[in-house]
Amino acid sequence: MFDTIIVGAGPAALSAAIYLKNANKNVLIIEKDTPGGKILKTEKINNYLGFTEEDASNLAYKMYSQTQKLNIPILIEKVIDIKNNGEIKQVITNKNTYETKSIIIACGRVEKPLGIENEDKLKGKGVSYCVKCDASLYKDKVVAIISKEKDDVIYLSDIASKVIFINYSNEDIKFNKDNIEVINNEKVIKINEENNIIKSITLSNNKEYDVSCLFIETGYTPNIDFIKSLDIKTINNYIQVDSEMKTNIDGIYAAGDIIYKNVYQVITAASDGAISALSVIKYLK
Ligand SMILES: Cc1cc2nc3c(=O)[nH]c(=O)nc-3n(C[C@H](O)[C@H](O)[C@H](O)COP(=O)(O)OP(=O)(O)OC[C@H]3O[C@@H](n4cnc5c(N)ncnc54)[C@H](O)[C@@H]3O)c2cc1C
Repeated sequence: MFDTIIVGAGPAALSAAIYLKNANKNVLIIEKDTPGGKILKTEKINNYLGFTEEDASNLAYKMYSQTQKLNIPILIEKVIDIKNNGEIKQVITNKNTYETKSIIIACGRVEKPLGIENEDKLKGKGVSYCVKCDASLYKDKVVAIISKEKDDVIYLSDIASKVIFINYSNEDIKFNKDNIEVINNEKVIKINEENNIIKSITLSNNKEYDVSCLFIETGYTPNIDFIKSLDIKTINNYIQVDSEMKTNIDGIYAAGDIIYKNVYQVITAASDGAISALSVIKYLK
């Protein structure tokens, strides 16, 4: 029987695990893939406090190593269900069933790809899914953004020399900034490369635009399929938590990109993880 099982091994989970282990709790992390989470999908992290131009995989490795110095067990298994039997809960994976007094769900979300040529190949090489993460890499450059909303377009226009906004909404979105070009009623059909980095994009009207980056903001899917049988409250498929990272189910907490919140970054995931762990410690008392 574990005190806490944490689902996922991204920054939210690893941060929670460190707090729990330091409080002498019997904690288990279950990760379906590689410890480090989404950080491993990006090349550089330049906005995490204490790290300058940190190679992302190095940051992930340091977080993982910190848990290993504390001997926190990490199983590489996929969680496929969670059963809430009151004080004792079961976490069911593709290999086994584990019993625990509490659970922290920290399994993140995945971006919705466009599914067009070169999109996958050029991820991190001029194709980005995160404006707040990568905009600073394109200072004074020409960039394009696919979005349905204004906020990130304005954010980008303060950094890039020109922003080509490909409006994927049905609304007429206007800006009062000279360096934003709005393109309505067109889709990006191809991403063109040169020397393995983005060169341009081609739109459905066959016009080609040279850009240093294409930001794709078509939304995310939270990884909650495996908890469909749990009666957990969600907002837009993100888990709803209170300020202590508590869900509506006693003893079940959530942290990081899986929760409904405003800012989805490594630093906020680590913070959520810490808060969830401290709440679990209180709960276990
Ligand atoms: C391309 C890209 C670039 C980014 N750049 C930055 C940046 O520069 N700066 C920044 O601050 N943020 C950046 N982010 C955002 C940041 O990576 C996330 O906010 C952060 O990683 C969220 O941490 P998390 O622990 O909540 O989730 P994740 O990091 O997504 O980790 C969740 C983990 O749960 C695992 N998991 C999922 N389902 C299951 C299951 N059923 N069973 C077991 N394990 C499961 C996953 O495999 C994953 O390892 C970027 C994101 C992307 C996609």
